[in-house]
Amino acid sequence: MKPVRAKKHLGQHFLKDKNIAAKIVESLSGHQDYREVLEVGPGMGVLTEFLVQKKDTGLYLIEIDRESIEYLNEHFPQLEGHIIQGDFLKINPDQYFKNAFAVIGNFPYNISSQIFFKVIDHRNQIPEVVGMIQKEVAERLAAKHGNKTYGILSVLLQTYYDIEYLFTVHEHVFQPPPKVKSGVIRLRRNKRDKLPCDEVLFKTVVKQGFQNRRKTLRNALKRLNLPQQLNQESVLDKRAEQLSVEDFIQLTLLIQEAGN
Ligand code: SAH
Repeated sequence: MKPVRAKKHLGQHFLKDKNIAAKIVESLSGHQDYREVLEVGPGMGVLTEFLVQKKDTGLYLIEIDRESIEYLNEHFPQLEGHIIQGDFLKINPDQYFKNAFAVIGNFPYNISSQIFFKVIDHRNQIPEVVGMIQKEVAERLAAKHGNKTYGILSVLLQTYYDIEYLFTVHEHVFQPPPKVKSGVIRLRRNKRDKLPCDEVLFKTVVKQGFQNRRKTLRNALKRLNLPQQLNQESVLDKRAEQLSVEDFIQLTLLIQEAGN
């Protein structure tokens, strides 16, 4: 069968290096508790080939591209009934998974942030994620506070996941090669369950805090009622990038008490 024609608008860059594919698949630690794995955007199945060898886990694929779906159906007949044609951003995982499942993929880079927002929405069902994305984005997601690249999605993801930057992948191992380097990261669900503060307000504080990252929080958050007792020398005199997840939670609690 002919190889799939790479379509730019679907972010199709096919990985050619089998050793790297194996290394990505091996990055699923399996330490968390799950028996099923969902591969997002398998394309021509370079990761799938290694994933099907994991006999103790049930494998599902979701792929938006009809041409890739035909290719996958032909090459992986053993996955019949497990190959879903659809948009990962639109599916309801409950339709396919009753229990916890891991997510893996060489993700379409144009929608990688949206993929991670979806993971956050389903965090209690997704204990582990291994993903290849644009290197800068991978670094940003894994960045700790105090770092210039630490941002909104770093905080929101690290609220629920421990994130490790695993390794860098060069452009020339893809067909067609992307314009940027890639990075592989691993997310593992941490122990944080319900936040002690209002979760909507928490997101607002994080998003507004980073809106203009060079402002102090007092300035960045001035549309909220800020706690009066924090007038002098306080967390509000810091910038968003200086706050850890726990700092953001504590700040949200104070802002909540001040009536928001
Ligand atoms: N895993 C393959 C392909 C990576 S390219 C490899 O490593 O070679 C990204 C893949 O994601 C493409 O096959 C593309 O068709 C698919 N894709 C793009 N948007 C998608 C979406 N919203 N849902 C599911 N798959 C998507």
